[in-house]
Amino acid sequence: MYLANRLDSFQESVIREMTRKAIENDAINLSQGMPDFLPPKELISGVEEALMKEEHQYSITYGRTDLREKIAGKLKQYNKMDFNPNDEITITCGASEALTSSIFALMNPGEEIIVLEPWYENYVPITYLAQGKPIFVPLAENSFDIDEERLKASINSKTKAIIINSPHNPTGKVFSLDDLKIIADLCVDNNIVAITDEIYEYIIFDTLSHKSLGSIDSIRDQTITVSGFSKTFSITGWRLGYVAANRKLMDGIRKCHDYLTVCAPSLLQYATLRAFTLGNKYYEDIRKRYQVNRDYLMENLHNHGFKIFKPKGAYYLFADITEFGMNDLEFSNFLVKNKGVAVVPGSSFYSKKRRNHGSRFVRFTFSQKLATLKEAIERIEKKL
Ligand code: GLN
Repeated sequence: MYLANRLDSFQESVIREMTRKAIENDAINLSQGMPDFLPPKELISGVEEALMKEEHQYSITYGRTDLREKIAGKLKQYNKMDFNPNDEITITCGASEALTSSIFALMNPGEEIIVLEPWYENYVPITYLAQGKPIFVPLAENSFDIDEERLKASINSKTKAIIINSPHNPTGKVFSLDDLKIIADLCVDNNIVAITDEIYEYIIFDTLSHKSLGSIDSIRDQTITVSGFSKTFSITGWRLGYVAANRKLMDGIRKCHDYLTVCAPSLLQYATLRAFTLGNKYYEDIRKRYQVNRDYLMENLHNHGFKIFKPKGAYYLFADITEFGMNDLEFSNFLVKNKGVAVVPGSSFYSKKRRNHGSRFVRFTFSQKLATLKEAIERIEKKL
């Protein structure tokens, strides 16, 4: 009875609960998206060096100036976007905090955020915490395409923002430039802010290349771009992300960031500067690594009766389990307890109303070493 009513709208993360279940059951953890191999040695030696320097105190709230400058350079070169590192970029405690600070900065009670369904778990609880209301707009049933008409119909005078995530968690869908233009036009026409979560921007397969929503000129000043270092450099536990937005939006985001976290970890900001010494080969190699993983896991799960949407980016497989005659929760429990492999039940990416759509799926991550994936497949194959 002491707790705030808004907490009733959501539960703790199922993704992170599955990690705990993986540990309890001594299972291979293919639930929470994180690698089981070391980050690049340059980053590790950066931490060692930081330890011996005066990097043990707070950094300035917005993040180290030199790191923000590097990020500005990367945004220009890779994302084709110009942001001033002084007042348009902030370093946060992971992309998660970048999203939280952004959503807190935008919402008045009762205002709405459009969330494309299925969605990455954090978006909805953050919206409730900010006293906003998520409006779920389903992606098309099997292709996960954007349904433009449905999207248009969901916009009204309370709509404040839309969240787009490409490459997409949990499906691996990569939205095309035409899709992004649809979103941009809708936002411009209706004066809505676009929050774009691009944390998987370097994990993109086949012949695709990453496109940033904010690089479309018309929407530049009403776009909040969120990304980070976790996935690209295999440092999910460092909690280092960033947010870029025009100065007016950033003023508000910084106010929230300042009081939520003060600053991102100083030692690790220092070490992360080393990420910018890595050349193209590094980025090529991680793409290749995850593409090999994707192909291996997809083929092997397919051979065992899973129906799989082929991911074009990120490191997740959204697998249809209809074949097995269990719902997602039963199946995930069975897998973690009886086979020693942890996955995420699909319904955790859907709203309560459309939970049954999600219960046909489970999500596997292929962020681990290939050898780990092989062991997981062996475990799944083993008769009890
Ligand atoms: N993005 C990761 C996932 O979906 C988890 C991120 C997190 O737990 N903060 O598994």
